[in-house]
Amino acid sequence: MNDFSLLIDGQLVAGDHTIPVLNPATGKVAASAPAASVQQLERAITAANRAFAGWRDTPFAERRAIVLKIIDIIAANQGELSRLLTLEQGKPLAAAAGEVSATIDYFRYFTTLSLAPEVRQDNETRYVEVRRDPLGVVAAIIPWNFPLLLAAFKLPAALLAGNTVVLKPAPTTPLATLHLGRLIAGAVPAGVVNIVSGGDELGPVLTSHPGIRKVSFTGSTETGKKVMASAATHLARVTLELGGNDPAILLDKVDLEHTATAIFASAFGNSGQVCRAIKRVYVPRPIYEPFCAALAERARAAVVGDGLTDGVQFGPVQNAAQFERLKELHADAQQRGTVMPGGGPVKGPGYFFRPTIVKDIASDSRLVVEEQFGPILPVIAYDELEEAVEMANNSQYGLAASVWSTDSQAAFAVADRIVAGTVWINKHTDRMPDLPIAGARQSGMGVELGEEGLHEFTQIKIVNLSKAA
Ligand code: NAD
Repeated sequence: MNDFSLLIDGQLVAGDHTIPVLNPATGKVAASAPAASVQQLERAITAANRAFAGWRDTPFAERRAIVLKIIDIIAANQGELSRLLTLEQGKPLAAAAGEVSATIDYFRYFTTLSLAPEVRQDNETRYVEVRRDPLGVVAAIIPWNFPLLLAAFKLPAALLAGNTVVLKPAPTTPLATLHLGRLIAGAVPAGVVNIVSGGDELGPVLTSHPGIRKVSFTGSTETGKKVMASAATHLARVTLELGGNDPAILLDKVDLEHTATAIFASAFGNSGQVCRAIKRVYVPRPIYEPFCAALAERARAAVVGDGLTDGVQFGPVQNAAQFERLKELHADAQQRGTVMPGGGPVKGPGYFFRPTIVKDIASDSRLVVEEQFGPILPVIAYDELEEAVEMANNSQYGLAASVWSTDSQAAFAVADRIVAGTVWINKHTDRMPDLPIAGARQSGMGVELGEEGLHEFTQIKIVNLSKAA
């Protein structure tokens, strides 16, 4: 599959120019993707506005039938979509297939919800309904770590609620999304779903456009702030799912081997490029050395390579800029901590970085304070639990966190004191479509997933009837 097009107003169209999409496992061009001009993006916004009137008035059951059709199309093309995800994103093929399966599950979840009006009062004086109207055109902006799954957090909910969509994939991972656009072009009314790829510069055009009524954005905190400022010019609604620096706190009673395996998996899955990955670990001093050793042993055993090769557990880092940033954090960690043997960047081709454990690292070092978003993990010793909770909370972020202990009461007590949108106990990164996610502090604004996530794509309208004589 080498033919990628924009989807604008139901038509598959070439971009203004093309941009090369690199395979991060080889550093070579995997395919050329269309890059839209500003005029093409504006055409997509106009088409989505035109399509809105018809889509808003389409009965919910019919909208649901079209979303179910999209699900069937994804399921029938799982192999090709998975291969494209591996080629552009780098994740192992099995993980890519897992992402496509999860995409289907998330789409399907939203089809089980309803938006029927809720009767809030029905008495002698009044009858009051709470209705949920669509907003208009939604801009869905996606990062490069889970191109299809993160679109599934937005697209089905926006469509079921009666909105039309302009979806923008990340510049380095547009292929699977564009292929999906090609597959669904004939199944969705013209203009209801538009897919427009290109450079970062399309983002501000989209978010500042008065034809956009809501921006549903997933990406970095830095960009999220720009999105919010830009949407403020016309008060478009925003949902922001942003960066994180999730802490994991081990309490003194843990099953060390089991916990090391689980924490390793939650820190290094998708090569650490997960918003809710474990990004810092706090460990009681008496078990600190054996725990670091157990993590380092797992890091040394990790099979890193091209995601298309059988048996590979961890693919490359997705892009050159992120690879360079990780190398910087690694160099800094070598100065400010002890990098355990076996980790670090691998000489090219490709952006390979072996899972890396860093111990005895200063708590104000870059690797601890910043979001690494890659396979390098700081592990920090603590003496008093109070100190661990304080260090865990000492962050601009508040996406998620986890507490690990065989004493669940003690773990709940710590969970109470963590500032985060999700706190897991004895696990991390356990997500399900019916559980709302909402970043605390600078990790986000608003909610995705769950009924709450569906409601974010709606405008409350109260219809209030007088029953007085
Ligand atoms: P990014 O913020 O650089 O880019 C995200 C998207 O925004 C891309 O499509 C990009 O083209 C677009 N964009 C860039 N500049 C823009 C602008 N000024 N206005 C509008 N859009 C613009 O993020 P990234 O590097 O692609 O992704 C990594 C980040 O995403 C990490 O911080 C990660 O934690 C975060 N993330 C968060 C979640 C979550 O649910 N909280 C999920 C996945 C990733």
